[in-house]
Amino acid sequence: MSATAEKTSLNGGEFLIRETEAHQVFIPEEFSEEQQMIADTCRDFLKTEIHPRLEEIDKAKSPDLMSSLMDKAGELGLLGTAVPEEYGGFGMNFNTSMLVAEVLGAGHSFSVAQSAHTGIGTLPILYYGNEEQKNKYLPNLASGAWKAAYCLTEPDSGSDANSGKTKAELSADGKTYKINGQKMWITNGGFADIFIVFAKIEDDKNLTAFIIEKSFGGITMNEPEQKLGIKGSDTRQVFFNDCVVPVENMLSARGNGFKIAVNILNIGRIKLASAAVGGSKGVLNQAINYANERKQFGISIGRFGAIKHKLAQMATKIWVCESANYRAGQNIDDLIDTLKGEGLTDAEAKLKALEQFAIECAIMKVYGSEVLDLVADEGVQIYGGMGYSADAPMERAYRDSRINRIFEGTNEINRMLVLDMYLKRAMKGELDLMGPATAV
Ligand SMILES: Cc1cc2nc3c(=O)[nH]c(=O)nc-3n(C[C@H](O)[C@H](O)[C@H](O)COP(=O)(O)OP(=O)(O)OC[C@H]3O[C@@H](n4cnc5c(N)ncnc54)[C@H](O)[C@@H]3O)c2cc1C
Repeated sequence: MSATAEKTSLNGGEFLIRETEAHQVFIPEEFSEEQQMIADTCRDFLKTEIHPRLEEIDKAKSPDLMSSLMDKAGELGLLGTAVPEEYGGFGMNFNTSMLVAEVLGAGHSFSVAQSAHTGIGTLPILYYGNEEQKNKYLPNLASGAWKAAYCLTEPDSGSDANSGKTKAELSADGKTYKINGQKMWITNGGFADIFIVFAKIEDDKNLTAFIIEKSFGGITMNEPEQKLGIKGSDTRQVFFNDCVVPVENMLSARGNGFKIAVNILNIGRIKLASAAVGGSKGVLNQAINYANERKQFGISIGRFGAIKHKLAQMATKIWVCESANYRAGQNIDDLIDTLKGEGLTDAEAKLKALEQFAIECAIMKVYGSEVLDLVADEGVQIYGGMGYSADAPMERAYRDSRINRIFEGTNEINRMLVLDMYLKRAMKGELDLMGPATAV
C-alpha cells in the first residue's frame, strides 16, 4: 500500500488532487441508530410544532412566538447537539450537527432562527471563549434559556466585514468597554439575550469580539425588517449606545474578532448547505405528490417527459449536494480525531479542522444555496398557477430560498474565496496543484 493510501484523514482542498478510497467516503446510510433517532426527533418537532404553524410564524407581530418555539426546541435538546456534555449539551460530532441542520432545514423561518442561535450565536463562545465564559453562557445557550444573535454586519460594512465602524472604548479604570455603533440585519435580534458583537478598539486594523448581555443596557433596536422571505425570522437593526461591557466579556484577544468571524462563518456555510438539502427534499416530495395527483390531458402531469425531467434534475442535484456535504463533514470529523490524537483540545481541533476545510465549506455554501433555488423554482413550475398561490407551499419555498445566496457571505464572495484559498495554499506549498495538473 502506498503512503498516500495509508493516510486516512484528508486535508482541506485535497479532494481535487488525491485519490480517495471508497471506504474513506462517508455516505448518509452509515448514520448510526442514535443519529437517526436525533434526526427523527427533529422531524417530529417540525411536524408537530412548525409545519402546522408556518402561516402564523410568518405573520407573527411579535418575536414571542419564535422565542417560544426556540424554548420548545431547547427542551428537546435540539439547541445543544454540538455543545460538549460538560457545558450542558450532547457533544455530538460534526456530521451529526450537519444531520440536525439538514432535517431542521425544512423548517423555513424557524430553521434560520435555530441555526443563527446554535451556529453564529453559540459557537464563538464554544471555540474562542475562556473557561469562565463557557461555563457561564454555554449551558444556558444549549438549553435555550438564553437566545443568541451575532452582530457583524453594519450599514456600510457587509461583504467587507472587517471595515465596521462600531467602536469599543476602554474606561479609565480599565474595567469596562463602552460600545457604540449600529448593526444591521441581525437575526434573532428582537428576542436575543446574548449578542456576539464585533467592534474596533481605537484605530485597530482588525475587529475585536465581545459577548454582550442584553441586561447590560444601552441596546435599542428598530422594528423587524419587512423581508422578501423568511418573514417569521426576526431580523433587526441593533444600536449600541454607550453599552457598558465588562472587560471579562472580550472574546479571545484584542484584534482577533475578524478571525473569529471568518472561522465561525465557515461552519455556518457548510451547515447552510445541509439546511438547503433538507429544504430541497421537502420541496421535491411535495412536487412529486402534486405531479402524481394533478391531471391534465387525462393523465397525471408526472407522466409528461418535461415534468419527469424536472423531478429527475431536482433529485440528482439534491443527491450530489447531500453526498458531497456529508463526505466533507466526515472528512472534518476525521481530521478532528487526528488532531485530538496529536494532543490538541477538542475546541482547538475543531477549529483547526474547520479552517482546513474552509474551501469545501465555501463550495458547499454556493452549491447548496443554488440547488435549493433551482429546486424551489422548478417546484413552482410543476405546481403551475398553484405554484404562484400563497395557498400552496411552493410560494413560501421560493421566497424563503432566496436569502441563502446572500447571507453567510454572498455567493460571489464565496466563489472568490474558493479560488483564493486554493491559490494561497498552492503558493505556500501546502497543496500540490501543479503536480497533478502537469500529469494531466
Ligand atoms: C435576512 C438576513 C439575515 C441576516 N442575518 C445576519 C446576522 O444575523 N448577523 C450579521 O452580522 N449579518 C446578517 N446578515 C447580513 C448578511 O450577512 C449581509 O447582507 C451579506 O454579508 C452581504 O452584505 P451586504 O448586504 O452589505 O451586501 P454588499 O456587501 O453591499 O454586496 C452587494 C453585492 O455586491 C457583491 N460584492 C461585494 N463585494 C464584492 C467583491 N469584492 N467582488 C464581487 N462582488 C462583490 C455582493 O456579492 C452582492 O452581490 C443578514 C442578512 C439578511 C438579508
